[in-house]
Amino acid sequence: MINLSSLDITNKNIVIRVDMNVPIKDGNVLDLTRIKASIPTINYALNSNSKILLISHLGRPAEENFEEKFSLKPVALSLSKIINQSVEIIDNLDSKDIFKGASNIQMLENIRFFEGEKENCKNLGQKLGSLGDLYVFDAFGTAHREQASTHSAIENSNNACAGILLEKENEFLSKALNNFESPYVAIIGGAKVSTKLELIEHINSVADYIVVGGGIANTFLKATGKNIGNSLVEDSMLEKAKHIYHQGKIILPDRVVTSKTFEGDDIKERQANEIADDETILDLCLEQETISLINNAKTILWNGPMGVFENNFFEKGTKDLSVAIAKSAAFSLAGGGETLSAINKYIKQDDVSYCSTGGGAFLEFMEGKVLPSIEALNSKETGS
Ligand code: AMP
Repeated sequence: MINLSSLDITNKNIVIRVDMNVPIKDGNVLDLTRIKASIPTINYALNSNSKILLISHLGRPAEENFEEKFSLKPVALSLSKIINQSVEIIDNLDSKDIFKGASNIQMLENIRFFEGEKENCKNLGQKLGSLGDLYVFDAFGTAHREQASTHSAIENSNNACAGILLEKENEFLSKALNNFESPYVAIIGGAKVSTKLELIEHINSVADYIVVGGGIANTFLKATGKNIGNSLVEDSMLEKAKHIYHQGKIILPDRVVTSKTFEGDDIKERQANEIADDETILDLCLEQETISLINNAKTILWNGPMGVFENNFFEKGTKDLSVAIAKSAAFSLAGGGETLSAINKYIKQDDVSYCSTGGGAFLEFMEGKVLPSIEALNSKETGS
């Protein structure tokens, strides 16, 4: 991949595909993380005296028409406050407007309002790819989607490269897959085995231990013959879970937290092999042995909470895990929306070596897949 940081881009017109798909309520941006993650690339281009056109999607508009609630105007306003200069919104692809305004930064309205984006249409890709001197792809969070601005535009541009965020994501995620040190502890929690199966299978080939938590641990507990009462389970995954368990790397919880309801009635700490039929496992107790594994690890990968941590009654497993990871000197990588919420709640992002901005893209990368945007950027370099 050609990286932006290796190019001299003085006085150019640069199109940057960013991921500014942020939560918005009543016209206000609720979380600036994704906007801030794009700043290094934006500043790099501004400091090179270049003009910028930003492209992003926002939400899932049903039609390819303007809909106020999916407008990027609040995002442009938040960005302009962060970089302390105006950001002009552009709602069409006319060359008479683009790179022509007084502002050095323009932002195209939600790319999902444009015909052909979702279908990865070549016409739109060609148009986007030829708007400027360079097409910079920095939207890691959407690199797993084959759409016009994430795929066809790269393929059809004369010059395309990876932005600074994408370069960083690629470097840290690749390190955890190909360039890691052992012992390697992967921690995989969350609701369902089915959404993490490919991750578990792929990580099984690199990690020494896979600590499972959340609803995922329930399915593994049941697969090993334990009664899990009313707990969330995926019966269709039991055979797969049994097969993976017998490969010897899965670490199951010994003690768990149960309740009769999600509201916390009759909370008990129990041995995982003592669950009654009317009890639900909603959290786990992080064993001292697991904490020691994390402490002695050289590489840690974390995706998914250990319990229903949104509820304070069931947060302890996820909280203790966060603290253990923060204390470990290992190279630690975390990704996924719920995982980052837990990190923000119990520790700081700086306590983890790298927090990925991707959700689906993070999972697919760690499943060993080559993401379509990265594949298109790689072909650009080799000219194939
Ligand atoms: P995921 O998006 O797959 O990482 O799942 C995250 C969700 O899993 C969180 O909202 C948790 O509340 C939920 N979760 C974690 N542990 C459990 C559990 N034991 N039972 C039900 N849901 C759980």
